[in-house]
Amino acid sequence: VSTAVRISEIFLSLQGEGPSVGTPAHFIRLQGCTVGCHWCDTKYAWEPAGGRAIAPEDAIREALALGPASLLVVTGGEPLERPELPALLEAALEAWERVEVETSGVAAPPLSHPRLHWNVSPKLPAVTPRWQETWAHVAAWTAEPRATFKLVVGDAPDPEDASRLVREHDLPRERVMFMPEGLTDAAIRAHAASLAEICTREGVRLSPRLHVWLWGARRGV
Ligand code: SF4
Repeated sequence: VSTAVRISEIFLSLQGEGPSVGTPAHFIRLQGCTVGCHWCDTKYAWEPAGGRAIAPEDAIREALALGPASLLVVTGGEPLERPELPALLEAALEAWERVEVETSGVAAPPLSHPRLHWNVSPKLPAVTPRWQETWAHVAAWTAEPRATFKLVVGDAPDPEDASRLVREHDLPRERVMFMPEGLTDAAIRAHAASLAEICTREGVRLSPRLHVWLWGARRGV
């Protein structure tokens, strides 16, 4: 019997951010995160003992029963803080053509697979006192060819910090996206306008936040 995984929620939606934005996807949200971002939109997934514990194969079955999608997004919480993550990913790669993990990058990549993609969002200094820990393994993430870096950028000093950190860590710009911070359409629009200019200057991609535009800051989307 496989080790149980602690789940916050399982749903079917569109991938709202990053390189696969707009793609229909199953989502498995793992429970537990200690990174502490002040603008976090999933604070309900912070408590490591919250949610429910189920076998990975049951989580997969529950997701597949919601309808068809060739993409699975494993998100959190912070998936890298769950020791059950590798077992879940190995089982998931049997069931989906493509698997993506949303993470802050607070630990090194626990496994590599040709159909496993990582959306790594290291944090800027204004976001959490633990921001440096999310940059500690950035060389290992750069060495993982299927890792994309998605930096969430809000008001000053975020834009300057983001540009500086990309330079300091020599991130491959073709694998970097800046995404506007905001939990409302208005806030995202305000940040996106200035961010478009910064992305053009820095040679990095701009990621939308499709789910906030479509549905606002709601659970299960
Ligand atoms: S790492 Fe993710 S889940 Fe954890 S606090 Fe930051 S945004 Fe929220």
